[in-house]
Amino acid sequence: MEHLFSERVKKAKASEIREILKLTQQPEIISFAGGLPAPELFPIEEMKAVTLKVLETMGKDALQYSPTEGYDPLREKIAMRMAKQGVHAQKEDILITSGSQQGLDFTGKVFINPNDYVLCESPSYLGAINAFKAYECQFKEIDTDSDGMIMSHLESIINQTENVKYIYVIPDFQNPSGRTWSLERRKALVEIANKYNLVIIEDNPYGELRFEGESQPAVKSLDTEGRVVYLGTFSKTFSPGLRIGWVCASETLLSKYITVKQSADLQSSSISQRELDVFLEDYDLDAHIEKIKKVYKHRRDLMISTMADHFPRQAHYEVPQGGLFAWIELPEQIDAKVLMEKAVARKVAFVPGGSFFPNGGHENTMRVNYSNMPDDKIVEGIIRLGALLKEEL
Ligand code: PMP
Repeated sequence: MEHLFSERVKKAKASEIREILKLTQQPEIISFAGGLPAPELFPIEEMKAVTLKVLETMGKDALQYSPTEGYDPLREKIAMRMAKQGVHAQKEDILITSGSQQGLDFTGKVFINPNDYVLCESPSYLGAINAFKAYECQFKEIDTDSDGMIMSHLESIINQTENVKYIYVIPDFQNPSGRTWSLERRKALVEIANKYNLVIIEDNPYGELRFEGESQPAVKSLDTEGRVVYLGTFSKTFSPGLRIGWVCASETLLSKYITVKQSADLQSSSISQRELDVFLEDYDLDAHIEKIKKVYKHRRDLMISTMADHFPRQAHYEVPQGGLFAWIELPEQIDAKVLMEKAVARKVAFVPGGSFFPNGGHENTMRVNYSNMPDDKIVEGIIRLGALLKEEL
């Protein structure tokens, strides 16, 4: 049936690492591969009460179709929460999506014609790269340092490239690098987007998970011309299983996303939206986030200190100030895909970093997650990885 498939689907070849990653779901594997929240922190008891209340007080609406834009009380609460990022939004600026992954897919659908260019950080989030690729775009990777994208490189790439539509960035605790942009870079990015008439896609699942240091305002809060599309999600602060995210954008842009959502899935789950809204009404999400941050900070500290004790000194990493991931750079001769196979044989897993670079290369990098494993497994897994690295070097 090969000839029946679209060119688009044919191009989306199965990820080389997917098969190995499947193995990481075996219970005996210590997995630093996924980006999963700690399941023991999910507020299950609270959600039992919430679910009952939703069904008892608004069961008919919760099980019925509902407007594409989303459940108004939830849109209002999200608009208010955006103030924490420095963004003054109204409910009309918010579209509820099925996770921010759907916002990424819609971004591709709204902006990309085949062979258009997307500009992204080097490295960038694999799920976004794949979502955009499905619309047959090409990528230009922009060099980054510990303060974010390097603006002179961004501007020179814009000057050399036809058909650039948008710049995709994850400015807070980036997936995969764990890095956070400085305020100066955020301001400069908006200036460049204004100058060249481009859109910025700001993807921010981790911004609320800061363990230390000073919070930075969202790029969206610096948006002077309504050209920043902000993608938010409750996946990392509450639960990914609910599949509730949002797009916050000016009317001109948001209306396109709403049109696209109508044909994609009509609306996000009526019941999930109401459950989340009642949770936000009856419980304290910010207190819950504080609890999550405490656990993740502890796990980050434990992972970093174990790496300091057991990794060879040729392995370089920075300490992320929040989020879920640490990023490791190894000497050039190490291929992290080969290393991953050897690590899985020792029952420990990570993601080889090459997959986060849309134009390839950088096989000597790896991403490790610290949010999902308990203390003893973090220590044991990092010791095993350290021993393997020492053998390879
Ligand atoms: N963007 C980034 C940078 C992510 O890391 C993730 C989740 N891993 C997503 C978007 C998608 O998250 P969700 O669809 O669960 O909101």
